[in-house]
Amino acid sequence: MKYVDEFREPDLVRRLAAAIAATVTRPWTVMEVCGGQTHAILRFGLDQLLPDNLTLLHGPGCPVCVTPAAMIDKAVEIAARPEVVFCTFADMLPVPAGKGCLADAKSRGADVRPVYSPLEAVRIAAAEPEREVVFFAVGFETTAPANALAVRQAETQGLGNFSLLVAQVLVPPALESLLSAPGTGIHAFLAAGHVCTVMGTADYAPIARRHGVPIVATGFEPVDILSGVLSAVRQLEAGEARVENVYARAVAPAGNPAARALVQAVFRPVDRDWRGLGTIPASGLDLRPELRRFDACARFGALAKAPAGDPRCIAGRVLQGQARPDQCPAFGGACTPDRPLGVPMVSAEGACAAYYLYRHQETATA
Ligand code: SF4
Repeated sequence: MKYVDEFREPDLVRRLAAAIAATVTRPWTVMEVCGGQTHAILRFGLDQLLPDNLTLLHGPGCPVCVTPAAMIDKAVEIAARPEVVFCTFADMLPVPAGKGCLADAKSRGADVRPVYSPLEAVRIAAAEPEREVVFFAVGFETTAPANALAVRQAETQGLGNFSLLVAQVLVPPALESLLSAPGTGIHAFLAAGHVCTVMGTADYAPIARRHGVPIVATGFEPVDILSGVLSAVRQLEAGEARVENVYARAVAPAGNPAARALVQAVFRPVDRDWRGLGTIPASGLDLRPELRRFDACARFGALAKAPAGDPRCIAGRVLQGQARPDQCPAFGGACTPDRPLGVPMVSAEGACAAYYLYRHQETATA
């Protein structure tokens, strides 16, 4: 398959792994901040091709995992209202919080509809004017343009029955927060290629400079990921800390200017609570005040206090790269995809789900 097979080519993967091994002379730690990259690393065993003194850490790159529990509870509460059609990407359905999950609400009779795009929710709002249609706007910079477009379409069509429950988060402030934490051992980041496709790479430059940390825009296939790692360790060994782009087939330095302009016209930066990480300044997006009529919280009430999570779950440490999923005492025992204690085990992009899927057998028989 074009654009896939050539980036999984075994000889090229082996040559990249050898180049990395030949480059690394000291212990380094590189963090990826993308659930898709985490799953690719585990699925293809890329971490097992690397030298012992090079560690890959998995950061808060799963948007479902970092969506605050209070927001999930609000979603469940809104979905339960008889006048509401609650539209969401399907990966949010099983995500648990204090009031259960959206799948539970649906099984109790709530009109929860999985959709592929927020524009489907706009179409539902136009077709069913007697219902209140709410779309759950979750995700990083990647989903923000389509959500902004949905608001613009609702505005153009004069829809008074469409709103967003906005849980958008931004990657650069999260990197800044991780690097500012005391005792951080992160030496370099792989920046998620799809985020950079929208936002470009300029926002990373001040972070790389300020913290002396290379940041490499990287794709999702084995060759992409190992190219990113090689770029990062070459910089580290040379004492450099730059932003580099090894995903040039998709990422332009300025990103997608039209998408960025749309996002800026509809959203504004706000402090955001990240599940497991706490509040990070200016790390979220919310609707601009003049578009507040499309805000589901303005229509259905503000968020309540976040419920406490299961005390056995160390997802916060996993999301910050302080522990690997298989170091969690509950991993594979009290916590499995069928009986998850935390979101990283239930989300398709979660690190715990990746370890369960690709490493559980090894850990269980070790
Ligand atoms: S394995 Fe389960 S309990 Fe442990 S951190 Fe992951 S989600 Fe939480």
